[in-house]
Amino acid sequence: MDTSRQYAITLDHQDPLQRFRKEFYVTKDKIYLDGNSLGLLSKRSEQAVLSILGAWKNDAIDGWTMGKHPWFYLSEKVGEAFAPLVGAKPDELIATGSTTTNLHQLLASFYKPEGKKTKILADELNFPSDIYAIKSQLQLKGFSPDEHLVKVKSRDGHTLTTEDIIASMTDDIALIILPGVLYRSGQILDMRTLTVAACERGIPIGFDLCHSIGSIPNYLSEWNVDFAFWCTYKHLNGGPGSVAGIYVNEKHLGSEPGLSGWFSSKKDKQFDLEHQLTPAPTAGAYQIGTPHVLSLAPLIGSLEIFQEAGIQAIRQKSLALTDYLIALMEMELSEFGFKIASPMEHLSRGGHVYVTHPNAASICKALKDAGIIPDFRSPNGIRLAPVALYNTFEEVWQTVEVLKQIMRDQKYKKYENTRGVIA
Ligand SMILES: *Cc1c(COP(=O)(O)O)cnc(C)c1O
Repeated sequence: MDTSRQYAITLDHQDPLQRFRKEFYVTKDKIYLDGNSLGLLSKRSEQAVLSILGAWKNDAIDGWTMGKHPWFYLSEKVGEAFAPLVGAKPDELIATGSTTTNLHQLLASFYKPEGKKTKILADELNFPSDIYAIKSQLQLKGFSPDEHLVKVKSRDGHTLTTEDIIASMTDDIALIILPGVLYRSGQILDMRTLTVAACERGIPIGFDLCHSIGSIPNYLSEWNVDFAFWCTYKHLNGGPGSVAGIYVNEKHLGSEPGLSGWFSSKKDKQFDLEHQLTPAPTAGAYQIGTPHVLSLAPLIGSLEIFQEAGIQAIRQKSLALTDYLIALMEMELSEFGFKIASPMEHLSRGGHVYVTHPNAASICKALKDAGIIPDFRSPNGIRLAPVALYNTFEEVWQTVEVLKQIMRDQKYKKYENTRGVIA
């Protein structure tokens, strides 16, 4: 491969998505590679927030039913816009809650221990919040997490194998919760095969798509996944604390969720204010209370961008960017002790690259001081996420160049090898 800067510039000229970069607030003298933790603000999201604020300013209570984006139907409308990204039908989707509260809702709805089927299967590499939610729901049902939470083990500390997961789908498992893309290594799990195996064993299966939605195509309906949930502030660029999402397969729709509230209602019944809930016949039933309208607003704009760019084109560019980053690191940084822990095969690699190094924390600090924003994952991981909608090949080239200087001149030694409060 050509390692010149000119080659990177050529790749940028050939990029069919290059026009989207100018839609985002990209800081001039920085290279932002942290879009898998908090995506950047787009001008369209900003406009959408201003439009919702305008409705509040001008229409007050009537904003619920009037204006361009009536708030009463906004969760459903944003939910529909998730459809092409997760491969589901509009009725199977709703924008609501946060990742963790949605997982609580789904556990309350789908975890039905019975007889010897009492355990929940998860994995030892998942994000702690998911594990905490599972443990508290087990406890609420009177089961000890020590015995009833089964975690699939990783053979290499970074990835899981399909065989190991399927081997853990034993007779005592009542429910399976797994990530679609692992938050550290970026490994994509084979959701189709896992769902087939779970279905054959009569075990409901749900996926956390936090690192999957917006970075890879998903086909939840076609795979027959029971349910899924995700946040929208990572690849979907919804902003800090933006409203999350839920998918429930249509075969499960039409009943009351585990945790009900008045927004679980069928819309035309809600204001009858009866004490008997008539649940929405859609995934809207999984809502609880009043939607966080101001945190839904940015999604109106950002999902429009995804609609225009198309998830297939985004995935193609994302793979080209991570291929390029990996190739450059292997050619330029081989003497400095970095290990790439993300899968090499396209089928298994999500939208970011995970690199380990004994001095990862100090290297991240040196990168930040040089204007490059990675993210550090304790104890020794660096996540680099070149995002298809707003990063360039030239930025990837510059990042490797700066890393080379930091390593060659041992600039990282100036920094303590410890993490900050948020890392
Ligand atoms: C980001 C992330 C979360 C975050 O949960 P919130 O409720 O949105 O704070 C949870 N699980 C996974 C796998 C994540 O990547």
